[in-house]
Amino acid sequence: MRRKLAAGNWKMNGLQANLSEVRTLNELAKDAQCDVLLCPPAPLIGAIAAEGGVVKAGAQDCHTAVSGAHTGEISAEMLADAGAKYVILGHSERRADMGETDTIVRDKTQAAWTAGLVAIVCVGETLDQREAANTLDIIGGQLAGSIPDGASGLNLVVAYEPVWAIGTGLTPTTDQIGEVHDFIRTRLERRFGTGVGRSTRILYGGSMNPKNVTEIAAVSNVDGGLVGGASLKAADFNVIVQALS
Ligand code: PGA
Repeated sequence: MRRKLAAGNWKMNGLQANLSEVRTLNELAKDAQCDVLLCPPAPLIGAIAAEGGVVKAGAQDCHTAVSGAHTGEISAEMLADAGAKYVILGHSERRADMGETDTIVRDKTQAAWTAGLVAIVCVGETLDQREAANTLDIIGGQLAGSIPDGASGLNLVVAYEPVWAIGTGLTPTTDQIGEVHDFIRTRLERRFGTGVGRSTRILYGGSMNPKNVTEIAAVSNVDGGLVGGASLKAADFNVIVQALS
């Protein structure tokens, strides 16, 4: 029922020269049975979209406003105009580095929807929060605060990314992943209704790689991955794409 999504987050990596990886991925993944997305730094979005293959382009952030006096910022409408289909919002690096709160993420999600983009809203606990057995409370609060009313099943993807698993090589057990994904599914169904809740994709992110993707993808309510380091090389990311297909 839910088509899986392999989403790559290039973070602040990628130059024009790296577009060759996108061309290779378009070739390797051309028969993929899942959706394939790369979210590069903004200067590469247009070029990736222009490749026109199976690999769709997305962004890593947007502003809450449509236009105006916000030097250095990029609106959701501009991202859509450049060819982006998705935008990652509320990534833990932005929550930590830029002080993004749930309220800001919610306003950005609303802006993304207004521009016709799919919002990939990130939630996740720190190690301290997990060790204090607060994981589900934290995730529940982030979901409630970061997602506006109006989720349709098509305009929203939720990414569960434990902060302590990002870029560390550590991953939760499959039981821990399943517990959080089932919880997110229940919360989405309760708030938005069963139809919307069941059709919203929930990605796992945090040190997903070609070796662990098959095990993680088999967990209940895991509808794909949000992949950082392992999305930079086409050959690696294609293994993940194939495992999700
Ligand atoms: P990682 O990053 O795969 O390099 O751990 C995932 C993310 O931050 O989205």
